[in-house]
Amino acid sequence: MGRKFFVGGNWKCNGTTEEVKKIVNVLNEGQVPSQDVVEVVISPPFVFLPLVKSLLKPDFHVAAQNCWVKKGGAFTGEVSLFNSKFKFDVSCLCSAEMLVNLGIPWVILGHSERRLILNESNEFVGDKVKYALSQGIKVIACVGETLEQRESGSTVDVVAAQTKAISERVSDWSNIVLAYEPVWAIGTGKVATPAQAQEVHSELRKWLHANTSPEVAETTRIIYGGISFYLSFVLLLFILNLIMAARIKINIIHYMYIPKAADGDSCGKHRKYKIADISFSCMFLYMYLFLIAFGIPVSGSVNGANCKELAAQPDVDGFLVGGASLKPEFIDIIKSAE
Ligand code: PEP
Repeated sequence: MGRKFFVGGNWKCNGTTEEVKKIVNVLNEGQVPSQDVVEVVISPPFVFLPLVKSLLKPDFHVAAQNCWVKKGGAFTGEVSLFNSKFKFDVSCLCSAEMLVNLGIPWVILGHSERRLILNESNEFVGDKVKYALSQGIKVIACVGETLEQRESGSTVDVVAAQTKAISERVSDWSNIVLAYEPVWAIGTGKVATPAQAQEVHSELRKWLHANTSPEVAETTRIIYGGISFYLSFVLLLFILNLIMAARIKINIIHYMYIPKAADGDSCGKHRKYKIADISFSCMFLYMYLFLIAFGIPVSGSVNGANCKELAAQPDVDGFLVGGASLKPEFIDIIKSAE
């Protein structure tokens, strides 16, 4: 049996009750392939889990964005800190038992934002995966290398080590989806091409084949999720605009001092050149305004424009989508399963 396409929507820390209702409405009304073709899992912030679960049509499932490494207990409030020395994470707003109690079947674990910001180690993520599975929660386990690691040529070693920490603790992979998310797409202007995504997915599958079993390698879904660098792109355009604004000003001043056609052809040409230069410089301003206005995800992330090509890669079995999962284009991403 082939691997069923999987699309996860990671809403991260976004949304209000009203926005949640709107997004869920879009999801419920979207014309998407049947559950036999694609499995869709939506991951809202913790506080919205019950609301999303109650509103979402039953074709779609719900995931938490994290859960505690063992049974819950005396952890008042949220202190988002993982102390690697004491192996202590009190960032957890809920335990796997609570997810079971709420009827939430999935959890995202080891997301790069937690590994990098909260220092979650491979072992700690492995422990969390093991515990969640033991309670009957299915896991979207994230792996991915940083820019430094990619540039030093250690991509495969890094994702293999992250996967190994899971495989050492888990023998049944049937409830795990592996999400490859290259961290180096954050703020660098670099984008994983479909071929680069395929390359790492194929290496991960080979690793599973050699270190777990051919069956696990064949059946485990490996999904792709880039991380957006939208903000940095906007920042880059902003700086370009400052430079261009200075250029436009100089050109306008020069333009004002060029005598009109009466002075012959060469002046006419020069005026035209100045006008062209001013329009060219304005182009960046238009791009900037367009991005701000429409929030286009110019990124290494999965979006409505690149999902088809990514989905066509033989070892890409779906996506974990961040920013675009909050927008109507998420429906197009789900449709790329067809
Ligand atoms: C993510 O956070 O899992 C992710 C893929 O984010 P984005 O699509 O916004 O890059």
